Amino acid sequence: MQVVVDKPLVQGFDYLWDIEKLGRFPEIGNVVEVPFARSKEVGLIVKVSNHSEYEIEKLKYVERLAPLPVFDPALLRLMSFTSQYYIHALGETALPVIPQMWKKADEWEKIPKKLESAENKSKKNSPLPTEGLITLDQLNSEQKIALRKLLAEDQKEKEFRAILLQGQTGSGKTAVFLNWLASALREESAQVLLLVPEINLTPQLERRVRAYFPDKKMAVLHSGISEKKRGVAWYEAMTGKAQIILGTRLAALTPIPNLRVIVVDEEHDPSYKQQDGTRYSARDLAIWRAHDQKIPILLASATPSLETWLAAQSGRYENIRLDQRAQGASLPSVHLINAREPQNQFSPGDAGAPKQKSLITKTLANAISKSLAEKKQSLILINRRGYAPVLSCSACNWLSKCTQCSTYTVMHKAGALSNRSVLNCHHCGLVKPIPQFCPDCGNADLKTLGHGTQKLEDAIEEMWPQARVLRVDTDSSRKSKGAEALFEEIHSGNVDIVVGTQMIAKGHDYQNIGLVAVLDADSRLYSADFRAAERLFAQLVQVAGRAGRSGTKGEAGGDIYIETQYPESPVFQYLLRHDVDGFLAFTAKEREEAKLPPYSYQALIHAEGKSLDQAIWFLNELKTRIKIKGLIGKELKIYDPVPKPVMRVAGAERAQLLIESSNRKVLQETLEIIDQELRQDSTGRISKASRIRWLVERDPIAI
Ligand code: ADP
Ligand code: ZN
Ligand code: ZN
Repeated sequence: MQVVVDKPLVQGFDYLWDIEKLGRFPEIGNVVEVPFARSKEVGLIVKVSNHSEYEIEKLKYVERLAPLPVFDPALLRLMSFTSQYYIHALGETALPVIPQMWKKADEWEKIPKKLESAENKSKKNSPLPTEGLITLDQLNSEQKIALRKLLAEDQKEKEFRAILLQGQTGSGKTAVFLNWLASALREESAQVLLLVPEINLTPQLERRVRAYFPDKKMAVLHSGISEKKRGVAWYEAMTGKAQIILGTRLAALTPIPNLRVIVVDEEHDPSYKQQDGTRYSARDLAIWRAHDQKIPILLASATPSLETWLAAQSGRYENIRLDQRAQGASLPSVHLINAREPQNQFSPGDAGAPKQKSLITKTLANAISKSLAEKKQSLILINRRGYAPVLSCSACNWLSKCTQCSTYTVMHKAGALSNRSVLNCHHCGLVKPIPQFCPDCGNADLKTLGHGTQKLEDAIEEMWPQARVLRVDTDSSRKSKGAEALFEEIHSGNVDIVVGTQMIAKGHDYQNIGLVAVLDADSRLYSADFRAAERLFAQLVQVAGRAGRSGTKGEAGGDIYIETQYPESPVFQYLLRHDVDGFLAFTAKEREEAKLPPYSYQALIHAEGKSLDQAIWFLNELKTRIKIKGLIGKELKIYDPVPKPVMRVAGAERAQLLIESSNRKVLQETLEIIDQELRQDSTGRISKASRIRWLVERDPIAI
């Protein structure tokens, strides 16, 4: 038989088996423990045969079989597609899918006990929640029409369908697809997969999903749960015990033998893209999986990705829309504040003007005061955690650079990271004490440049001393009770002003937010990445969706304030009109003219080593080899290698090579050749000569 293991090796390895020892016949899709090099590895059987190209005498025996059913054929097809499409070995793609609990062969014997205890625990579940349950008859007319369209097609032949469910935040998409899933789950053994972005998978959503399916078992899969819980949930999905599989991107590759329907919520969310190992897009894999298994898939979003939106426009995907807010409130009003205009700024004599230069404009400050007076909550976003992004010397212009990265260390006040103020690198994690004197000139006058969440929190507390202020970012949520406790504070109304990063904007169904402000929109607008505007637009719509959700019919839907120096930019102009389709059409045209994705296909070759020169040289040499092979031409373009946006991280210098093609197949073939070329001179994924670590990434979402 042939077994693949979790190594960057393309081939599988042949083993013999001894039925007596294993207790049963090994099959394709069985998880096994095998001797490997001088130790043991857990692997996956991909072939069972009586022949081997190797000398039988030299082959070793499989040690044992995991107490697991086989991976179903559909899952094996998905894994093999993933491995091929994303140019990664099958073993490196398949094995990471298996939770740790099942990869410790020494503990396989104890597993039945663990499963039993988990079963007993889940029996003692607290009473079922009814939170957020919108039953069939409670759906509004628009939702009913949407659901009817979904169900009508379900009656037909078993076939692939992709549906874009598009509707502004709060329009009731979740209520529609949960009711749809309920109908699929009427079949006793049916299983459904619901994918959500990393940060959206909150207990609030979990309770909401549970409320719809009181008598079904749910398996929750994401990186935040304990190894054991994940191992059990995965097993329950694999054995059909759980009917609802709710998870983040890693759940896209879960074995689900009776899969009937897939839903991808917030399908545009960048967290669906895996950023290490096999760099897959969970959304794209889910679509492939639905296609392969001839089942429907629903993609939901307020701001669909350009790819999905174009597919819906062209009729490849069905397009179902919800145009009203479910609870009746109108959309929030968008206000653009140009900080450069004097009327928006505090003058020294103004009432309420802060002592130092204000972090927020007078216009915004007035709006916050008004919101406070109306007893509504305000959300203020700034996309940088910490106190200030850099510390500098006023005498010699010294800046707090990271010693291991080509970035600055961020100043953090005492808090989650340390009980005193420190400098922290957000790329490599380095934490250093704050120098008392400038390391270059000895000057004692060090000052901060720019601002982060902590500094904003201080400024707000100073301006509104009577207000209850809460900061929510990864630092504050790491402390004490975690993010959930912070969100609870907001929900319970114990907070007047929330300061935080993008983290607070996603998914949460806040009920009393009247004002949302975004302070550093510009920094995300002008980035080298061509998707920056698309991403910012989606974030702003998402953020705006937090305001005024619960307003009754006709009531104002809250206000969103955006501070920008470029109010005329299309992102803001389309946002002002809540014109998602207009923005997407505009962006599509831009991309088409520039022949950028989705009008072309891209891949990146990443290289990192001790020096940037070596990494660039390595990629240049690769480019030359591809050129010599005559592959570069009308349909294939290879750019010059360039340093990465953050060139040095934790001491490694990094470069990348962008490859672009108008033809998917041409790109695929080229990448396979590149992979072969690179593998020839490498051990695993490290080149033998220059010790460069390389990686091929298909469909990168950040260039
Ligand atoms: P979306 O997924 O589009 O953001 P949700 O389904 O989460 O929208 O709905 C937004 C809010 O409106 C939720 O609080 C939800 O419980 C509520 N809601 C949804 N549909 C209805 C309805 N038909 N009647 C009343 N409230 C609804
Ligand atoms: Zn100095
Ligand atoms: Zn660093």
